[in-house]
Amino acid sequence: MAASGEPSRPRQEEVAAAVVVVGSCMTDLVSVTSRLPKTGETIHGHKFFIGFGGKGANQCVQAARLGAKTSIVCKVGKDSFGNDYIENLKQNHISTEFTYQTRDAATGAASIIVNDEGQNIIVIVAGANLLLNTEDLKKAASVISRAKVMICQLEISPETSLQALTMARSSGVKTLFNPAPAIADLDPRFYTLSDVFCCNESEAEILTGLMVNNPTEAGKAAMALLKRGCQVVVITLGASGCVSLSQTEPVPKHIPTEAVKAVDTTGAGDSFVGALAFYLAYYPDLSLEEMLKRSNSIAAISVQAAGTQSSYPYKKDLPLALF
Ligand code: ATP
Repeated sequence: MAASGEPSRPRQEEVAAAVVVVGSCMTDLVSVTSRLPKTGETIHGHKFFIGFGGKGANQCVQAARLGAKTSIVCKVGKDSFGNDYIENLKQNHISTEFTYQTRDAATGAASIIVNDEGQNIIVIVAGANLLLNTEDLKKAASVISRAKVMICQLEISPETSLQALTMARSSGVKTLFNPAPAIADLDPRFYTLSDVFCCNESEAEILTGLMVNNPTEAGKAAMALLKRGCQVVVITLGASGCVSLSQTEPVPKHIPTEAVKAVDTTGAGDSFVGALAFYLAYYPDLSLEEMLKRSNSIAAISVQAAGTQSSYPYKKDLPLALF
């Protein structure tokens, strides 16, 4: 009880975030053209827009829009893109207590040229994302250790991701690792530190050297990944849903999804991962299969609208059966 006799209510920042992301923020600078330019050529585009991206922030935004209390540990530049990104995180009700700003690099940016057929040329400069370091993580230790689920990807330095996973594991926080973008010689500790290891088909191919074109092949790749020490492996398969298996049920299970008219699948994988983190944190008693079915449903909604974060659904617009 507070001194006044009123029940003491925790201040906003004292309520622990259930989902913590240690990951990236990127500003997408998108020019739409009728064709892609040749080397040395200057052409006129017919549309330009700025989008908020980066796998870490995307996943965090999706979890937050489903109602998760979230916090992101990340680094942006001390520049206008960084300021705008922080504002975007706040608008999504994500705690920015451990969103650092640096003068030593620019906010991560993806310069994207896309033609009317959807072909693209992309240059990513990770910038400030690569400066998120273990000292920054130490300052955020209390938010990481009190989370229910922590998510990491590979758009920040691998050492920082490994340190974050180690900190979460040592505090009994469930780890959800999304090895994207994939690297063939991934440090073996990423597998053993993953409670849930979630990747897409092409990442599974890079990591295992196996072909992944259908649920049966995905099952084989998932088995290979499971043997490296993860507790649960999930491989997403676009319109075919996903395949999963776990140490306790090491038989691949295909979880199909509903057929929808896809408008723009960009960022579907991040919507799926963010949704899965939400279910792991808030509905831990659901079966893995049910969590994945629901994550499929959320991601299927995201592909029916344009853009990345702009396509991610909010709890208020979703069927009650998903909660
Ligand atoms: P991206 O790189 O575009 O973010 P990704 O390749 O990482 O996506 P996908 O496997 O393509 O990830 O998609 C992730 C999830 O999104 C799928 O498991 C599925 O649930 C959903 N999804 C993707 N595409 C479709 C689609 N066309 N129809 C329905 N659901 C889809």
